[in-house]
Amino acid sequence: MKNGRHKQVLVAGGAGFLGSHLCERLIADGAQVVCLDNFLTGSRENLRKLERHPSFDLVEHDIVEPLPAKIAKKRFDRVYNLACAASPPLYQADPEHTLLTSVVGARHLLKLAEGCGARFLLASTSEVYGDPHAHPQVETYWGNVNCTGPRACYDEGKRAAETLSFDYERMGRAQVRVARIFNTYGPRLCADDGRVVSNVVSQALAGEDITVYGDGSQTRSFCYVADLIEGLVRLMEHEGAQPGPVNLGNPNELTIRELVDLVLAITGSSSEVVFQRLPVDDPKRRRPDISRAKQLLGWSPKTPLEKGLKATIAWFEEEGGASRRRPSA
Ligand code: NAD
Ligand code: UDP
Repeated sequence: MKNGRHKQVLVAGGAGFLGSHLCERLIADGAQVVCLDNFLTGSRENLRKLERHPSFDLVEHDIVEPLPAKIAKKRFDRVYNLACAASPPLYQADPEHTLLTSVVGARHLLKLAEGCGARFLLASTSEVYGDPHAHPQVETYWGNVNCTGPRACYDEGKRAAETLSFDYERMGRAQVRVARIFNTYGPRLCADDGRVVSNVVSQALAGEDITVYGDGSQTRSFCYVADLIEGLVRLMEHEGAQPGPVNLGNPNELTIRELVDLVLAITGSSSEVVFQRLPVDDPKRRRPDISRAKQLLGWSPKTPLEKGLKATIAWFEEEGGASRRRPSA
């Protein structure tokens, strides 16, 4: 509640993996939530628990386009911007749209926040560090992004969105928070979105070959979705001086080969591992330094990887399996 009324919150990208969990969390906290989404990579299915909830509203819209009057006229207290495809094959499918979503879309939402005095949170990414020379990645590291490569539409889009967000803050036009999110997994990952946890879990459950790109020695650090959502809400609600960008992720780093072995052990699958070409500019190592989030927000992830993977695998078995695969992806 804010001044005796429910907080009015906009979640752009609210029909996606992270966005749908965030909408649920905000409603549980007593907010009135409007989800804005074009269903590019999200789905109505993700919002099944919310669609009839009196505190929830859904507006179908592409944030590259000017916001519809219904949204532009509303007074929000908080604007979360999670709208953007996050899986490499999906964000590379239409790179121009990905770049415009990050930059033009962020501008539309920042202007909305400016107009109604809302606080704005950008879901940025560990991809702003590119293929990093610094390890683990700390917020003060400026990154190593190839601006002409196939990942640039996403990486550079997010970097420009961060620039615009901090410029709005410096100009006194909006209060902003920037979360640099590291690889996150959990229920509602789309089985066919091409990310490693989605691929490996769905392949293991279907008894299909498991695709490891390169030799599997590259590392990532996986954060369970509930932990990540807690971090996002804490960052949005953090009062006081502009904290700068904040890494949110789990510092538990492992190789992709180790991840595959863990999924095989949990599922008891007899799938074979096959090695395929490593995608261009695929980062070799990634692990967040989360000292800032710990100190500022009192936040650190609580869910061990094995526990989170078991919950994810159970969800894939019950709801997310091969039947949800989109044929065109
Ligand atoms: P997702 O693809 O599941 O969700 C993105 C949502 O945004 C989808 O519902 C999609 O339909 C919507 N969307 C995309 N383009 C849009 C547009 N132009 N207009 C309106 N809606 C649009 O991805 P996710 O994993 O939930 O990621 C959410 C956000 O968090 C993204 O901004 C992503 O960059 C960021 N992020 C996620 C991760 C992760 O590991 N999941 C890591 C780093 C950053
Ligand atoms: N990856 C893999 N097999 C797959 C999908 C991905 O080995 O079926 C690798 C990918 O090359 C990368 C890592 O797993 O090194 C994480 O990939 P993902 O697309 O999930 O996220 P990102 O590269 O954006 O961190």
